Parts: sequence; structure tokens; C-alpha cells
Amino acid sequence: MSRTIVIVGGGLAGLRAAEQLRAAGWDEHVVVLGAESHLPYNRPPLTKAALRDGVDPAALAFRRRPTTEDVEWRLGVTVTAADLTGHTLTLDDGSTVAFDGLVVATGVSSRRLVLDAPHEWRHAIRTAEDAAALHGALRPGARVVVVGAGFIGCEVAATAVVLGCDVTVVEPFAVPLERQVGQLVGAEIQRRHEEHGVRFLLGRTVAAVEGDERTGPSGVVLSDGHRIEADVVVEAVGSVANTGWLEGQGLDLSSGVLCDEDLHPLTDAGPLRDVVVVGDVARFPVPMYGGAPFRVEHWTMPTDMAAHAARSLVAGLTGAPIEGPPFNPVPTFWSDQYGVRMQSFGLPALGLGDVRVLEGDLTREAVVGYHHEGILVGVVLLGMGKQMLTYRQQLVAATAGIDLVGGR
Ligand code: FAD
Repeated sequence: MSRTIVIVGGGLAGLRAAEQLRAAGWDEHVVVLGAESHLPYNRPPLTKAALRDGVDPAALAFRRRPTTEDVEWRLGVTVTAADLTGHTLTLDDGSTVAFDGLVVATGVSSRRLVLDAPHEWRHAIRTAEDAAALHGALRPGARVVVVGAGFIGCEVAATAVVLGCDVTVVEPFAVPLERQVGQLVGAEIQRRHEEHGVRFLLGRTVAAVEGDERTGPSGVVLSDGHRIEADVVVEAVGSVANTGWLEGQGLDLSSGVLCDEDLHPLTDAGPLRDVVVVGDVARFPVPMYGGAPFRVEHWTMPTDMAAHAARSLVAGLTGAPIEGPPFNPVPTFWSDQYGVRMQSFGLPALGLGDVRVLEGDLTREAVVGYHHEGILVGVVLLGMGKQMLTYRQQLVAATAGIDLVGGR
């Protein structure tokens, strides 16, 4: 009888997992259960071109490779519970689905502020529907308050100001992107935004969103009592891993699903060899940092992870050894703001105490290095795309042998 691998989550990680299962030689049944009604589509444009020009999920859809033509896609289906020992999933309509192998690819959801104001007054941005709703609200002259100056908040602010909105960003840290790229680069990003007309209210949080049931939000009250007028409120305050359906299965779900180096989830009894975790939802040992576990919400990660996870899962199901090279990805991220591409390699957040401009001029184009105990652990490029390979190689060489778990 044919065996079935079920992939839960129909995003980039789910798609890459399906492709890589076929590449790893799995020719039996593959089913994808996805909560969204769309085939996998690209999320980065949702804060950039698609937010500016309008959202068409079909235009954002990933190309599907011929090898995955016989994969069964069940869309608009949410998995509510799992029995990993009994190999069964429960769906939101109460029905069950059996699996031989399981890929966890459920990604993350937008974190929401706990406020006494209706959710309809506050935009978040994760799905095509979220972006379409926000696109409709970003009319010229609209007073837009973006809460949170991480990458998503900064990109929304940049797009909104280009669309002619009056944009204020509220952020508890001292500069935008402080936790991601530190004060030096964060201050430069702030300068660029301000040059385009974005206002920042820093070192403060949002205490309340005021408004009227009929007309929606009218203002935002900050933690220091300051009030600002608002027609549109966007919450960009981080993410929460979609792991509720895995509760009660003995997994470590404290920040995503904790996995071993082969992307099998860990239990007290050891790794589950018939399950793998791929994409934003995984917390996995990053070899270039001595195996310290991180959750990395970068677009390139599902592709890197799916190749290894598929080989691990096929090996787990067939009893064969895992084929191919060990899993050793370089976390890689990009962000586009005002026509300048910012790229990051490694984990700059690990080296915020020692930040150096390695090349160029920060106010124009530059390469910035992040160091932990003198070792280069992350690189951010503002423009300077041609230098990417050189610094990526330097980073990989520098981190070889670093051990963040053991101490250094
Ligand atoms: P997702 O794409 O979130 O897919 C997970 C899927 O699982 C979703 O469709 C979800 O509905 C489904 N799901 C969840 N729970 C269940 C359940 N219980 N049952 C069934 N299905 C379920 N990265 C960059 O490197 N550069 C960028 O510029 C960039 N921009 C971004 C802009 C936005 C607006 C967003 C949201 C992300 C951006 N990213 C960027 C991050 C990148 O898009 C993600 O890392 C990537 O989408 C992760 O893919 P994933 O499949 O793990 O998760």
C-alpha cells in the first residue's frame, strides 16, 4: 500500500518541501494541507511593490515544478490537532487525516497588540488579504501610524510615504531596526526615512487606539500620554509561530518547534524520525554558530532547509542513512526601502556590541560588520550588491569554529 507524507502549511516552506521530497526520491503520495485558499505565493512584495500597486495572489504565485504535479493540494484546510504517535491529524471540519511522514511548515502569524480596540481598526500584514486591505486604506493624505520599526514596519512606512500618506512610526527602541542591525545602521535608516517625510516617535509604545464604531480609528495614544491623529493604524510588532496544533505532543514549542540538526523535532525521548520542520516555524541548530538554535524568518531559509529536511524524512521513513551534504545554511535576508537594497548575512543581532563600517560611506552605500568577541558574525550591506560574495565568504571563514553554545 502506498504511504503518505503530509505537509502542513501551504506557503513557501510547504512548496519547497514537496519539491525536495520528489528530489530526494520519494515517489509515493504527498498531500499539502494549507489554511490559505491560495496556492503558495511570494510574501516579500506584500510590503513593497504589491502594497504600492495592488495585490494579485495569482501574479505572486510561485512557479510549480513538473515534479510536483501529482502532489495533492488541499487548500482552505486548517489542522487543529496532531497525534504524532498515532500518526493522525485533526482538521477544522472535525475530520482526520492519517500520515506516515509529516512535514511541519506552518510558518508564523503576525503578533497583535493587546488593546481595547477592535481588530478591524488595526492592520497587520502577513497574507495577501492583509496587504490588499492595507493597500485600499493607503490613500494620499491618509494619516498612517505604523507601530513597530522592524523590517516590516519600515517597509510599510516607506511604501505608504511614497503613496502620499502622512506617516508616523512609533517604536519602543531608540532607533528603527535597533534589535536587528543596531544603533549605527538604525540611525542611518531613520535619517533616510525622515528625508522622505516619515516621522518617528521613539522610546514609546501604544497605549490605546481611539475611534468610532462607524468611521474606524481616529487617533493613537502613546505610553507617555501623547496623542496622534490616525486614519490608518498598522501593527508590525513581530510574529508568533503557528504551533498551537502541535501542543501536547512532548515537543519544545517555546519559540517555534525545536529541532535537531537534521530538522527532526526533539522530544525527551529523542528526535522524531518521521517528522521534519521547515521554514519560519523551525528553531534549529545553526552550524555556523556552533549549533546554537535559532528561529530564522528569512525567505531563503525554507529552500535551504527543505532540501535537508526532505532527505532526513525519507531516510527516517526508509531506514536508510541521510544522503547528501550536512545542513550548513548562511542566514540571508534582504529589505528594499526607497530603492536601496539592504542585505544581511549571518546574524548581525549577535554582534550589536561591536559594529564597524568595513567599506564605503554609511550615508550612501556601505558594508557594515558585526562582531562577537572580535569575530565577524554578521554583515549588512546598504547597496554595494557587488561586494556580497566577498563578504559572505569572509563571514563563513570567520565563523568557522565559533561556539556560541559552549561559550565563545
Ligand atoms: P509562511 O509563508 O507563513 O507559510 C505558512 C503557511 O502555513 C501559511 O499559508 C499558513 O496559513 C499555513 N498554516 C499555518 N497554520 C496552519 C495550520 N494549522 N493548518 C494548515 N495550514 C496552516 N524575507 C526576506 O528575506 N526578505 C524580505 O524582504 C521579506 N519580506 C517579507 C514581507 C512580508 C510581508 C512577510 C510576511 C514576510 C517577509 N519575509 C521576507 C519573510 C519570508 O516571506 C518568510 O520567511 C517566508 O514566507 C516563510 O515561509 P514559510 O512557508 O515558513 O511560512
